Amino acid sequence: MFFFSKSNKLYFILFFILIIFIPCFFVPIYSNNSITDNFNIELSDSGFCWPTPSSHRITSQFGYRNIVVSGATSYHAGVDIGASSGSDILAVCDSKVYYTGFYGSGGYTIILKNDNYTIYYHHVSPNILVKKGDKVSAGQLIGKVGPKNVYGVPNNPYKDSNGNPTNGATTGPHLHITIKKDGKAVNPLNYI
Ligand SMILES: [Zn+2]
Repeated sequence: MFFFSKSNKLYFILFFILIIFIPCFFVPIYSNNSITDNFNIELSDSGFCWPTPSSHRITSQFGYRNIVVSGATSYHAGVDIGASSGSDILAVCDSKVYYTGFYGSGGYTIILKNDNYTIYYHHVSPNILVKKGDKVSAGQLIGKVGPKNVYGVPNNPYKDSNGNPTNGATTGPHLHITIKKDGKAVNPLNYI
């Protein structure tokens, strides 16, 4: 009797240890993932978030801008955010992937669309993490900021001063984002 109760006690302790320690091995892994996916995602009143968690540096504003070299003005349909190649790009709102691929002067591009808005992400990495038709939600990782140079794009007319093909009309890694509301470009900074 003594023997049985002792071994029962042993099994109980072993069982108890398993119950306590198994979750310790798994819980941090799952919670880390959810932290990575949702960390620092703040949605604006209109349901938008910032696209590049690693950078808030605007290098070119929306609207007409002076091009000092030529003296002419040029319309900029979005904003440029200076961010290093390989940094995360998030969906700025709940939407559906409408296009992925090389898009002329925009270089590698992701286009998202919902009922009211079309979002263009230009100069992204060729390794796009979503595909046409995917549903994405605000804050979801969809791609990475692209490098300045990309190779293997047929008939790519964009080249740097060394003659190497570039990721659209770009002089260095950055994200260009355009937001169109009902087909008309709006200042992204009023939304994101
Ligand atoms: Zn731009």
